[in-house]
Amino acid sequence: MDVAVAGVGIAGAFALRGLSKSLEVVGIDKREKLGYPVECGEIIPTKKEMKALLPNLDDCSLFDIPKRFESNLTKQVHFVLPNGKTFEIDFEFHVVRRDEMIQTVAEESGHKIMLKRRIKDFRDGKLILEDGEIGAEVYVASDGPNSKIAKAMGMPRPEISPAKQYVMKGVESDEDVVYMYIGKKISPGAYAWIIPKGNGVANVGIGFRPGYADKGDTIVKALDYFVREYPYSSPFLKNAEIVSEIGAVVPVDRPLESAVKMNVLFAGDAASMVISHTGGGIPTAMVAGNAAARTINGFFEGENDLQFYDSLWKKYLYQPLMNAYFLKNLWDKFSDSDKRISRILSFATNSDMEKILRCRIPWKVRLISHLTPILQRVV
Ligand SMILES: Cc1cc2nc3c(=O)[nH]c(=O)nc-3n(C[C@H](O)[C@H](O)[C@H](O)COP(=O)(O)OP(=O)(O)OC[C@H]3O[C@@H](n4cnc5c(N)ncnc54)[C@H](O)[C@@H]3O)c2cc1C
Repeated sequence: MDVAVAGVGIAGAFALRGLSKSLEVVGIDKREKLGYPVECGEIIPTKKEMKALLPNLDDCSLFDIPKRFESNLTKQVHFVLPNGKTFEIDFEFHVVRRDEMIQTVAEESGHKIMLKRRIKDFRDGKLILEDGEIGAEVYVASDGPNSKIAKAMGMPRPEISPAKQYVMKGVESDEDVVYMYIGKKISPGAYAWIIPKGNGVANVGIGFRPGYADKGDTIVKALDYFVREYPYSSPFLKNAEIVSEIGAVVPVDRPLESAVKMNVLFAGDAASMVISHTGGGIPTAMVAGNAAARTINGFFEGENDLQFYDSLWKKYLYQPLMNAYFLKNLWDKFSDSDKRISRILSFATNSDMEKILRCRIPWKVRLISHLTPILQRVV
């Protein structure tokens, strides 16, 4: 093959979409049905928001999300503190049917796709599958947060956060609003969410970083408490039923410094290209998959080398991802206590929170970062 796309999730599907039809390409995935089961909250900021989030992205047409993939369009984020204080932020999200989006984008690429093929290793320049091997001139490693290829090639392992999510029906929250909650009991070191998909159906989930949890707390108990008892979420869920559930992980680390190793281009979660303070990795995986495809097309046409990929994704993603990482690290320093988080965020305004959601660092946050050791003692 000219190109093997290893893992056809978001990054892999967008790599396939961008790869020239003149190349001999194969996409490989362990799943029986691409994108299924959905292990995601399924929100993607709208094109308008993406322009603000990734100001160096010269072509935002990737974010013209077709209506057929959209189950809801939300207008606000409500960010709820442990003391109940709520920031109401104008911010638009598409809530997508992520499985349908991956399947359609991959299929419409016209490239060959092999399903139910698990990659076990990457050795001697070849993908080792359970039932054979595949060799290609160039690889896209888009096999997600537990990338076998990254492991085989000795790439640094990112910090990951477990997450658990229910799809629920009969949810009575405002369907124009994505709710995000912070609190140690519901989501230690991360946040919990209610994401309305429309018609009373919602993705209801939590991130859970065990290092920030109280002894004896588990991800199962925390999600149950969020659904049944937490005063700011349970009223929306009192008549709701669980339709399905998943558990998965999301990288909450900085991206790889270089996402090219020999003839392998790492994209999406496999390269930890995630907005780490929100755990948002769909838009960054779309951009990375597309940038990998553009690099590979240029490589086969003799226009650029494979290192060009680093300059592309870094131009588009690096600064926002590093800002997110800075925010997440600062957050971590105050996450050991709900009182602390509520007190430190009592300094924040809606406008600060808007900036934070858009991966910008407000001056107050910079000040807090300089004063952290003192603030940790006094708040
Ligand atoms: C619970 C949860 C909620 C989230 N919610 C959101 C959200 O609302 N918005 C957002 O932007 N981000 C969200 N994220 C993060 C987002 O889902 C990921 O960052 C994004 O999907 C990354 O895309 P990817 O293509 O890199 O990886 P994936 O989408 O994980 O794709 C990897 C693909 O590789 C395949 N694969 C893996 N290992 C192998 C193997 N050994 N052999 C063959 N195939 C393999 C998998 O089957 C999969 O298809 C969430 C994450 C979690 C866990």
